[in-house]
Amino acid sequence: MKLVCIDCGQEMSSDDFKYQCSCGGLVDIVHDFSHYDTDHLKHVFHERLSERMSVFASGVWRYKELIYPDLPVESIVTKYEGNTGLYRSEMLSKYTGVRKVYLKAQSENPSGSFKDNGMTVAVSHGKHLGYEKYACTSTGNTSSSLGMYASIANASSYVFVPDKEISINKVLQTAAYGGNVFSIPGTYDDGIRFLEKYSGDFGFYICNSINPFRIEGQKSIIYEIAQYLDWKLPDWIIVPGGALSNATALGKGLRDLYALNFIDKIPRVAIIQAEGASPFHQMISKNKETIDPEPFPYTRASALNIGNPPSWKKARKVLEDTNGITVSVTDEDILDAKAIIDRTGVGCEPASASTAAGLRQLRSQQVIDKDESVLCILTGNILKDTGALHDYHFGKDLNGKFKNNIKSAELSFGKIKSAMETIRDLNGLLKIH
Ligand SMILES: *Cc1c(COP(=O)(O)O)cnc(C)c1O
Ligand SMILES: [Zn+2]
Repeated sequence: MKLVCIDCGQEMSSDDFKYQCSCGGLVDIVHDFSHYDTDHLKHVFHERLSERMSVFASGVWRYKELIYPDLPVESIVTKYEGNTGLYRSEMLSKYTGVRKVYLKAQSENPSGSFKDNGMTVAVSHGKHLGYEKYACTSTGNTSSSLGMYASIANASSYVFVPDKEISINKVLQTAAYGGNVFSIPGTYDDGIRFLEKYSGDFGFYICNSINPFRIEGQKSIIYEIAQYLDWKLPDWIIVPGGALSNATALGKGLRDLYALNFIDKIPRVAIIQAEGASPFHQMISKNKETIDPEPFPYTRASALNIGNPPSWKKARKVLEDTNGITVSVTDEDILDAKAIIDRTGVGCEPASASTAAGLRQLRSQQVIDKDESVLCILTGNILKDTGALHDYHFGKDLNGKFKNNIKSAELSFGKIKSAMETIRDLNGLLKIH
């Protein structure tokens, strides 16, 4: 395993951790899989599905050979992350107009988001190197995840969160795990720059989204989907794009699976951004060479509120490798799509629902056919943003299409009966589309 700069090609050792190359380029982890026997690995991964108490019970470390083969097992800090559900939904098919839609619920991770898939690997690497202080900048989920793993490792965490437009649920969760939360004036992007400058002085192991070990861990999401579907992936994989680490990991995981012959076809990837924070989509759709950072990003999907996504070069490569596309969707579409995903019983936070909103748009533009199979990656849990739930269902100003009001009525047969008559049939509403 080697750490290689994606810009200048310089190689670095994983024991002398460089989060970024001296030239400013991002670091990529390069494995040598040439001696692997795919059938043997399939067998090993299958056997590990019945593990309970070993590190291999984790849905990330099950694939250790493809993620971090050299790491001693004693260094692994795990909460049996991954192992999340894969669902099909009739209601979502109706809403999006595509017959076969899967939901991969990374929202079912221990801290409630896909950040756990990567964080277990970053904190394990930090522990292996002897670090006791971990830091990140975050719109919230990265910090909850780091707070959780640092506490499991009996280490401390320092997280920098913007003082506005983030979900209080995530901040409270982080503090409750014991994370030291710094609420900063400024944006996510300001926090990233601060940590890059001073983490050496503070002795922090940085767990920001470009940490290449996080990317390795997040590859497990697509490994797990492929394994659950007997190594046959759907035609399309749809993922939200904020800092673009998840899209990067998805593409890298697909390349691994294809190179090792686990799969014989690479699905197309669609990266969905929220309109108010869509610099990557702007760059791709306008055919620009470099990204123009958005200085004042705003979307209600707070996990996507990122104006200068650090991993844009890696994500662009994913589009090239997968014949992929980008889409931007409005907050209104995101929140309506979220209401539908919540109604399926699976549920997610706003950012995750951008996937279904994007799918609906791609279907109506005939980019995706009704008979193609599609998988949406749900990144965060339904309870991660209770403010959004409140505003949508009980708020006065927003007029969500699938609002589900609380019905106040006296406890009498007649009153409850007439209140029941006001309940709208969601299936009827869906048919309009
Ligand atoms: C972090 C996050 C995203 C964005 O992922 P990136 O890797 O930053 O593109 C989307 N949804 C949720 C719930 C997140 O926590
Ligand atoms: Zn370099």
